[in-house]
Amino acid sequence: MSDTVERTFIAIKPDGVQRGLVAKIIAVFEQRGYKLVAIKMVCPSREHLEVHYDDLRGKPFFQGLIEFMKSGPIVAMVWEGLDVVRQGRKLLGATNPLESEPGTIRGNFAIDTGRNVCHGSDSVKSAKREIAHWFNNDELCDYTLELKKSIYE
Ligand code: GDP
Ligand code: MG
Repeated sequence: MSDTVERTFIAIKPDGVQRGLVAKIIAVFEQRGYKLVAIKMVCPSREHLEVHYDDLRGKPFFQGLIEFMKSGPIVAMVWEGLDVVRQGRKLLGATNPLESEPGTIRGNFAIDTGRNVCHGSDSVKSAKREIAHWFNNDELCDYTLELKKSIYE
């Protein structure tokens, strides 16, 4: 069951918090069977957000994205489980909600790319970088999910 230790960074953006979607987004990951390893509400600095979105520096929407991400609290989380990075992206849906399948978080709750309510790491490498950027090691809880035998063969 060692594959089940993959981790991803998932964040509920300020629009998701304002719209009262925190519990619903958490429930999507909980109900799928993933394990919550860390969670906190944060109002990060501009510098912190610019490093998070480092690969998008230079894009025309970059400053607007940073402003928006600074407009209110964010719920930052780490989820763990089999293939959670790729599956997490599927649960979120496409970046542009108009292309997201109904049933996904963005496909259910969003219309506009600039207000797509959630973030998810796009690769295992990005996940490692993002988890280290948002959380200290002592904020990541090491525990056994008692339901594991019901979730994994
Ligand atoms: P993600 O990994 O699916 O979140 O997408 P990206 O990493 O490509 O972009 C990060 C975030 O920037 C997206 O979630 C959007 O909120 C925003 N974004 C991406 N592309 C655009 C765009 O073309 N216009 C605007 N306004 N925002 C964008
Ligand atoms: Mg991305």
